[in-house]
Amino acid sequence: MKIFETPDTASDYIANYIIDKINAFVPTTDKPFFVLGLPTGSTPIPVYERLVDACQKGRVSFKNVVTFNMDEYVGLDKNHEQSYHFFMFEHLFNHIDIPKNHIHILNGMVQNPEAECQSYEEKIKSFGGIDIQLGGIGENGHLAFNEPGTSFDTPTHFQRLTDDTIAVNARFFDKISDVPTHALTIGLKTIFSAKQVIILAFGSKKADAVYNSIKGNISPSCPASMLQNHSNAVFVCDEAAAAKVLNGA
Ligand code: PGA
Repeated sequence: MKIFETPDTASDYIANYIIDKINAFVPTTDKPFFVLGLPTGSTPIPVYERLVDACQKGRVSFKNVVTFNMDEYVGLDKNHEQSYHFFMFEHLFNHIDIPKNHIHILNGMVQNPEAECQSYEEKIKSFGGIDIQLGGIGENGHLAFNEPGTSFDTPTHFQRLTDDTIAVNARFFDKISDVPTHALTIGLKTIFSAKQVIILAFGSKKADAVYNSIKGNISPSCPASMLQNHSNAVFVCDEAAAAKVLNGA
């Protein structure tokens, strides 16, 4: 676990870490691309701001980077302002030099979600897997839309959102009944397969989830607890999110 005083200082650290990894990457015939797994949500926005700024100042290029987003709502078109597709272009992809065909986001409008999920898994594998999976964490310990109770073995799949998650996400919609009830999401197995996992957690609302993930039992009741068994996973927190780990529950 890495603890920073504020979300800003944590975001400086993470953005610089990712920039350094991209800059150190040397493309080869066997591995031509650096593969980033990316989240949406409020938490990564300051990291994306820093990546955009660094790219615009020439400190990093995304020409050899391929991205896979974690999840997408079912039933929202990619032009819908609350779709994760829209979010990613707005906050990151429209402002960096990544080739558009390097961007992968699950399509929540497909007729056959199972086929979409399977082909997403295959695409990730075809690029040699995810090098850095960046993620947020839900107040209930979810990773992407893998809600409590999801098996650690799950690949990319169609998921019903819990009432908690719908309530938390309602802040972005006019009314709670507008929040989609289902999503396509990479699975816990997909996340666990990443070579490195970095989970960002800011604010006191995340303190229980961080505590349960790091100090609790490894159990599907807290999906992020599976990362205790990952050889290269780190939680990057501000002091408020880390408070319970530091002070005991
Ligand atoms: P947030 O969402 O970054 O908006 O808090 C994180 C999540 O639910 O995974």
